[in-house]
Amino acid sequence: AAESSNEKLAVYSQQIDPYNERRISLLGELRHAIESDQLQLYFQPQISLKTNKVEGAEVLIRWIHPEYGFIPPDEFIPLAERTGVIHALTYWICRHAFQIKSSLTRQGFDIALSINISARNLQDAEFSQKIQLLADEENISLQDIVMELTETAVMTDPDHALKMMSELNEAGIRLSIDDFGTGYSSLSYLKRLPVNEIKIDRSFVMDMATSGDDQLLVRTTLSMGHNLSLVVVAEGIEDAPTLDLLKAMGCDLAQGYHIARPMPVDAFYKWLGDYVA
Ligand code: C2E
Ligand code: CA
Ligand code: CA
Ligand code: CA
Repeated sequence: AAESSNEKLAVYSQQIDPYNERRISLLGELRHAIESDQLQLYFQPQISLKTNKVEGAEVLIRWIHPEYGFIPPDEFIPLAERTGVIHALTYWICRHAFQIKSSLTRQGFDIALSINISARNLQDAEFSQKIQLLADEENISLQDIVMELTETAVMTDPDHALKMMSELNEAGIRLSIDDFGTGYSSLSYLKRLPVNEIKIDRSFVMDMATSGDDQLLVRTTLSMGHNLSLVVVAEGIEDAPTLDLLKAMGCDLAQGYHIARPMPVDAFYKWLGDYVA
């Protein structure tokens, strides 16, 4: 009840801004969008910098609204988090991602899928059980599923996050810290948490070929990650010099427009079939 009255207050105070008006109307439609055909999963490949092989793909949600067209996830994910729709949304995403994982396996593609998880998903005490149930229903093993969590999501309530992350980890899921470097990146919490991977935020990767500061940050993160036996992923690679630099630095996995843009599932299957390591 407190939440819905907060929502109403927000409605009153933002009414004059047309952008916010759109956000408010979207709020009511998101639940419907999940049930109709407006949401789509896109896939962005991740390749190994050691072997050039495709190791996995990040799953990214897209909303094609019948009236507004494409609505970026940065716009509706925060809304879904505020209203609690994120629970239904994340289960929808996981179910569909698991179905695609199962179809990839049938087609002989042995790759991992990385799914973005919100802080609020961890507030559901049964999150891990529900995910395991979904995996059973879709007949997939959770060994090839990675869940990406931001530092902020973890640090909001570290003790609770530790409990939830341990459950997911015990179920076989690998855990990745997303947007690494933008939050409270401290060695001590990484050591305490069952984390398998860190993803260096694209804001550092994008300028590293030209910015000494960013390059140093990437280098430091890499050596810190490797000292903790973590897989290090660089995202936001937009050109060959950046890719070469990361390869020379010993980064493990690479993701970015230079390798491939996020794409719908059919294009992704085709890309996988055409890809030569
Ligand atoms: P993120 O998790 O950091 O996802 C990476 C974003 O970087 C994606 O934006 C991707 O399209 C973009 N990207 C990838 N390579 C490049 C590149 O080389 N250059 C540039 N400039 N950008 C690149 P997208 O798909 O718009 O997603 C934005 C954010 O929305 C994500 O950031 C994530 O926080 C959230 N999001 C997306 N899908 C989901 C989802 O299924 N669930 C949740 N909870 N959040 C999601
Ligand atoms: Ca991510
Ligand atoms: Ca990220
Ligand atoms: Ca982000």
